[in-house]
Parts: sequence; structure tokens; C-alpha cells
Amino acid sequence: MRDDTEYDETLPLVRIRGLRKSFGLHKVLDGIDVDVPRGTVTVLLGPSGSGKSTLLRCINHLEKPDSGFVEVGGEIIGYRPSSGKLHELSHREIARQRSTIGMVFQQFNLFGHMTVQQNVIEGPLAAGIPRGEAVARAGDLLERVGMAGRESAYPRQLSGGQQQRVAIARALALKPRLMLFDEPTSALDPELVGEVLAVIRDLARSGMTMVIVTHEIGFAREVADQAIFLDGGRIVESGAPAEILDDPQHERTKAFLSAVL
Ligand code: ADP
Ligand code: MG
Repeated sequence: MRDDTEYDETLPLVRIRGLRKSFGLHKVLDGIDVDVPRGTVTVLLGPSGSGKSTLLRCINHLEKPDSGFVEVGGEIIGYRPSSGKLHELSHREIARQRSTIGMVFQQFNLFGHMTVQQNVIEGPLAAGIPRGEAVARAGDLLERVGMAGRESAYPRQLSGGQQQRVAIARALALKPRLMLFDEPTSALDPELVGEVLAVIRDLARSGMTMVIVTHEIGFAREVADQAIFLDGGRIVESGAPAEILDDPQHERTKAFLSAVL
């Protein structure tokens, strides 16, 4: 199996080709091709039900494609080519691939019975990182997301914005090469959106490769290198954010943007 050190650094970090996924008769992804170059931010836009979450979930094998594939860092996610066929990887191998990809959900997904620090060190401890090192790393990450000093708080004692910032620290704790965000601010009260977007903006500036589903159009315009508009499981249009967001060519993109702006 190829690993990062053998992978051509000039190739896109993420390559998605011919990705299709149905639930029953419902075609949710209907032939998706995407490249995400290293160190860039891609924003996925589209109406509810257009397949955005399913696409993100295919990138870390939380969903299994019906056909096509997702490659991250030169490795096919969830499958290994072998004598012309694709064979599914073991749970262990899939877990290893997932540990290189951080994901942040709309609903924070922190463990309610664990403190902030326990939430952030849990992944590294499970990965065999010594406790002292995991705690030190958590301290650095919590500082980075503006949550230093809150290590012993429980999620219920925090605002939604604080919980989401801890969730971002947790997703960063295994030093992922890719971060996926699925509507990270959609569940927040409006006054808490900015503090979470600020953390994501800092990550973008640090060169993290990211794919972000968001309806925050101003933020998308500011941080994204590429915007992709999905509708009905297909890419309707994609390109530079200024083109897609300020001068959309397709009626469906125009209708969506006028509804969210
Ligand atoms: P989006 O994130 O753009 O709102 P999703 O990817 O969540 O869209 O969903 C796309 C469509 O697929 C929706 O109609 C949704 O109901 C359906 N869907 C998603 N996950 C499942 C599932 N596990 N089983 C059945 N249908 C699903
Ligand atoms: Mg969704």
C-alpha cells in the first residue's frame, strides 16, 4: 500500500471519480468527480437533500459508494485494488484511514460524560499516544480554538459555539491531513456562529486541506479556493467562489443563492 511519503505531493490530496450512491431507488450521488488540491479549501453548497452530507461521508467511508471511488493521499478509501478488482479493507485499515481525516458535524458530537480534555485526548490515547503527550497536544489545540483553561468542563456546561470549538480540537487531535465540516454552524445561535467560523478561518490560513458544507455564503467567498454547487446528486457548477457565488450561470444555483442570502 502506498503511503503519504511515496505520494506525489503535486497531485490533489482528494480525488473523487464517478461516485454513485443510491438508497433504495433514490440516486443520492449520481456521478461525482471532484479534485481537492493540497492546502486548499473546497466549499460544498446545495439545497437540503442534494447529497452534500452523503458526499462528505463517502470521503471517510462512513458511506460505501455503489460505484466510483474516493482517493485521499493516493489511497482508495475503503478499498484496495487487487488483480483488477477492488476489495474492501479490514475494519482496522478503514479505522487507520479515518484517523487521517478529521470530521466535524452539525451537532458537535462530543461525549457528554467526558470532560473537554477527555474528549480531546480520547482519540490519541486509543491510537497509542502516551498520556502525557496526548494531554500536551490537547492543551495546544484547546488554546488554538480559544478554549484554554476549560479542560475540566463538561459539554453541557458550554455554549454551542464552545462545544463546536472543542469538537474541532478533537478532530485535529490525530493530526489529520484532511478536515471535513458538515454544516458546522447550522445548529448554533446566530451570535455564536462567528467564533466557530473564526477557528475554521485560522485553519484555512494554516494551510489545512478542508471540505466544508456550509450555507454561510460570505464565509465561503472569503475562505474557499473552490466552490461546488450540488443539486439532485450532481455537480451543477463548480469553480472559483467569485464565479459561482457572484455570477452563477445556472438557474438552480441562482435560486439557491437568492434563498440563502
Ligand atoms: P444534504 O446533506 O445535501 O441535505 P444528504 O446527503 O443528507 O443531503 O441526503 C441526500 C438524500 O439522501 C436525502 O433525500 C436523504 O433523505 C437521503 N439519505 C441520506 N442518508 C440516507 C440513508 N442512510 N438512508 C436512506 N436515505 C438516505
Ligand atoms: Mg446534510
